[in-house]
Amino acid sequence: MFEEFEKAKKIIDKSNSIYMVAHINPDGDAIGSTCALYFALKQIGKDAHVVCPSYSEVFEFLPGIKDAISVIDKDSYDLLICLDASDNGRLAISSEDYNKAKHVIMLDHHQRSHPYGDVQYINDELSSASEITYNFIKYLNIPFDENSASLLYTGMLTDTGSFNYSNTSSATHRAIAELLDVGINATYICKKLNDTIKEAKLKLIAKTIDNMEVYYDGKLRYSYVDYDTIKNLGIHDEDAEGMTNYLRMVEGTEVAVYVRGKSDGTLKVSMRSGGNVDISKIAISFGGGGHPRAAGYTMTQDIGVEKKKLIDVVGVMLSELSRD
Ligand code: 5GP
Ligand code: MN
Repeated sequence: MFEEFEKAKKIIDKSNSIYMVAHINPDGDAIGSTCALYFALKQIGKDAHVVCPSYSEVFEFLPGIKDAISVIDKDSYDLLICLDASDNGRLAISSEDYNKAKHVIMLDHHQRSHPYGDVQYINDELSSASEITYNFIKYLNIPFDENSASLLYTGMLTDTGSFNYSNTSSATHRAIAELLDVGINATYICKKLNDTIKEAKLKLIAKTIDNMEVYYDGKLRYSYVDYDTIKNLGIHDEDAEGMTNYLRMVEGTEVAVYVRGKSDGTLKVSMRSGGNVDISKIAISFGGGGHPRAAGYTMTQDIGVEKKKLIDVVGVMLSELSRD
């Protein structure tokens, strides 16, 4: 860790204009890690910015996100720091803006990442990019303030499913304890992220459950909500996610799949596993990626064909389980 952190520190020391970016369709960890590092680097006098062209309204209350920019209005800049993005094709930045960077630092926690950049720090044992960023900010010797601490808390909270998932370690909890000591309002963050939804979202949950199909004795639960339904509920693309967990929660479910239509005409597949099936393998085989228990991809062909292929692949993996 320290070798890569040291290399990154040296680049930061000689950089002034620094941009933080995460993956497209940012989650709490993507926003938490980029915005936290933005506040830390501003504290040491850097000309820091976050690039984040679109995000769900649920994250609007987070500090720093409203200052995020969509494109880089400069011919060149010193440094791009990429967080929570396993390959540079998924970054929320155009390749043109990516190429304007003199240096690129990658900080990521995904398994089977595709390393890129001058510094490549990948640690899949940590819960989140936010936990990496927590370690990195400490390494840079920059104190946490209420903003950076709230953001790092958010990233760890969301990527661990509120400390439910097995990626939560004692180190995660120690980091959280330190962030709480900064004086953040964790109750407010939890209320906003875990305990507040719009009525339209409640209706989307109902639709998802209504459309649920059950395969392999309840081991696979699948639901598809088309774009027109989502649009008619007044829900934007970024706010239409998060449905897979409801399917996964049902007793006996090994794999849950939620497919949603998007405004650009594509279909986004979001998968969750109960832990026995490594769904990142499935997602990768369909051109996507992710973690063993949370993965996704975009369907590129007709939904009828793609759905059958997916159900068959899950069936093969489930039958391998029962053979063990
Ligand atoms: P979600 O279901 O929340 O959209 O995505 C779960 C995880 O799967 C994400 O954290 C990300 O790692 C991965 N993922 C989702 N969609 C894609 C995709 O299209 N490509 C890749 N490489 N990973 C994805
Ligand atoms: Mn993450």
